[in-house]
Amino acid sequence: MESTATDKKTEHLRALPGDDVRQIMWRFEDRFDLQMLVQSVRAVARGPVARLVAQGARNTHEWTPEKESLIQHFDESGVTALPLEPSEGGFIEGPKNLPMALVALELAWVDAGSATSAMVGCLALSPIHERGTPEQRAYYMSRCAPAQPGEDRRPWRGAFCLTEPIPYVGVETGLLGGKVRVAEWQEGQEPILHVDKRGRFITNMGFANFVTAAVDTDDPRIKGSCMVVLEETDPGLFDRGIPTRKLVHQLSSTRDPIFSLRIPAARIIGGYTVKDGVIVPNFSHGEIIEAVFRRTRVGVALLTAAKLLSAVEPVIRYQRGRFRGGATAAPGSPRYDLGLQLKEDVIHRLVDVWATGEAAASLGFEAARIFDVLDPLEQQKDEVLAARGIRGGTAAFKAMRQVQKHAIAYVEGKRPELAEDTLVRFALADSLANVLCPACKLWDTGHGANMMREAVSLMGGYGITEDCPGFLGYKWMDAQLEATYEGPESVQRRQLSITMTDDLFLAQYREWIREMRLIANFHPGTGACALASAMQMWLWTLQHLLKAKDADGARLYQGARQGVTFPLADALGWLLAARSLILDVLELEKKGPAHPTVSEGLAGLMAFYTDLCHVQSARAAGEVGRICASLVHGYNRHPAWDTEGCASCYQSDDLEAIESLIPGIASLARGYTDVVEADGSHPPKAGPCVRFDGLEQFARLRSRMDGCLTGSQLAKDRAAEALTKVMIPEALDYPA
Ligand SMILES: Cc1cc2nc3c(=O)[nH]c(=O)nc-3n(C[C@H](O)[C@H](O)[C@H](O)COP(=O)(O)OP(=O)(O)OC[C@H]3O[C@@H](n4cnc5c(N)ncnc54)[C@H](O)[C@@H]3O)c2cc1C
Repeated sequence: MESTATDKKTEHLRALPGDDVRQIMWRFEDRFDLQMLVQSVRAVARGPVARLVAQGARNTHEWTPEKESLIQHFDESGVTALPLEPSEGGFIEGPKNLPMALVALELAWVDAGSATSAMVGCLALSPIHERGTPEQRAYYMSRCAPAQPGEDRRPWRGAFCLTEPIPYVGVETGLLGGKVRVAEWQEGQEPILHVDKRGRFITNMGFANFVTAAVDTDDPRIKGSCMVVLEETDPGLFDRGIPTRKLVHQLSSTRDPIFSLRIPAARIIGGYTVKDGVIVPNFSHGEIIEAVFRRTRVGVALLTAAKLLSAVEPVIRYQRGRFRGGATAAPGSPRYDLGLQLKEDVIHRLVDVWATGEAAASLGFEAARIFDVLDPLEQQKDEVLAARGIRGGTAAFKAMRQVQKHAIAYVEGKRPELAEDTLVRFALADSLANVLCPACKLWDTGHGANMMREAVSLMGGYGITEDCPGFLGYKWMDAQLEATYEGPESVQRRQLSITMTDDLFLAQYREWIREMRLIANFHPGTGACALASAMQMWLWTLQHLLKAKDADGARLYQGARQGVTFPLADALGWLLAARSLILDVLELEKKGPAHPTVSEGLAGLMAFYTDLCHVQSARAAGEVGRICASLVHGYNRHPAWDTEGCASCYQSDDLEAIESLIPGIASLARGYTDVVEADGSHPPKAGPCVRFDGLEQFARLRSRMDGCLTGSQLAKDRAAEALTKVMIPEALDYPA
């Protein structure tokens, strides 16, 4: 993958990566069904969706007939039926996380509100899909399936209602204001429940026929919380509420509904049992939303990844054409051909935007794939446990703890015979999914939103107008919603702070460090070396913080200390994204040569992608170094400040140098700190700022990592140069 200087001269990136490249990198080159799905969704995104945005449909938060017309397009393109099994009216057999992720990316390439509209139907069905009874599944899935040819039926639309008016559910999902109580319960009959629930910011609410809603008990005859299905024809109040005056995702419908309805107890999602005259739901609302969000958050991550990748082409076009037509840029001159691209900073920044988009997509798709692996394993695991007479509860928990130990032994190469063990395979995938999902939601949307600002800024004033090609200004705002809904960053950080300390995850993580070192041997140009060193530093820091105490003797790594756990979660996001990108680029290197269209121009493509990896790895290493250093050092108290200021940190030589810049500073500093003995010597200093076990180790890791950054700016220079040469189409393929 390392190119020689001569190669670099002859081979450069010819064109922007097309579908064939994406299919290899995101691992669906052998899935014809998914390739067709991408094409049909793209036609909707770059056709009706793009036209609506261009016509100004985003200028109102009202749900207009024009916006409603998109739903029909979603039905026809297969998006609506996507979450369903073929037996329920769907068309894709098996797990659907990767297909959903591809749809999310494709729609958000143009407008993420349309993607939200399309995907919320899936979110509404998810509680039923994940935990519903077979009867509930059959009933709702079949009603949501688009009508078949010759069928005269409007498919049902759903909404998912968790968030409530202040002061109830937001990030804290346990604070439920929605209530359920028994309205009527006749001997031998199914109980009738009364549900009172108000929602805040509920998507699809302008037209949903049913709502999956979280409620808590308000009756001693119902135990705990649950989720229920509410239908628009249920007796009582089904008030869709006022539209949310949102600034983002205007192609989705969002309202604050009010429900006060009577429903049969059979609407409790997942069913219930009756014990001693009390209705006991089989699943609490918390258990259901955990299973739901775990999967759907991956799609949200890809909404932001799509925005960043979609920004590349319009920005290049803008940069190149910036000075054309004026007196100072004659056709054929560099100013005419390259325009703003003559300026290093703008192309360097675009490299950063592109690298972030690639890494965000790579991480998101890796997460989607792991859920595709996990879904069938989850079911198989339950079957294996059931065959051993274990059905949930403490017994299952204990059994899985034992499996966890076996899985660690497997990862460490001590039990290779466990490779095909279902429980071990489940445990491995589960521990990864527990990290990859919150990591991609956190990093892709949070850091992605920041980088969208960069993309917008590269368009100058145009960036913040409605006319901006690629709708970049809208996308910047939209990214902030993606960082917020389905759990803001704090929710992902909180979850990561637990799952990233899991021993089985860490065992796999150690292997990943080894893997990156190996890759660094053969492909140093990817920056895998810097990444491996940064991964090692993160692990060292985590282990240090898990044991360490602050200057006042308080434990550092604990739930309440978000100042410790949250930045470390952020740091992991950087590492995982850079790693996923390297792995995808290696996949391209492996499969590209055999591919008829990709093989042509592969050398230039690989050289470019290798440089992008390097740029991203170096940036990740920089972030991780900054975060780890501030956590490792930041909770110690300076040993000398109380008595002599930061005397220990300067050398006398430094002071002289500073004196030349700020006259008088040296004598001032000495007046406070520098005691000169009668013989002119300085007394021993208090020592370095920090003293703790392992300081030298950390310092070694840091300096090693800094050294690993060698060449990363050269990689950025090369990638930037490629941006000046790459061919782009004459015009965007959707309206501006
Ligand atoms: C357009 C739109 C569509 C939406 N669609 C839906 C939908 O279909 N269904 C649905 O149920 N909801 C929906 N939501 C709601 C969305 O999921 C919530 O807004 C989101 O989960 C955050 O809740 P909140 O607004 O109450 O923020 P808050 O909970 O008030 O949080 C405010 C801030 O405080 C931080 N914070 C809060 N608690 C903590 C903590 N413990 N630790 C650290 N920081 C914390 C948060 O990170 C955030 O930065 C939608 C929202 C919007 C804007």
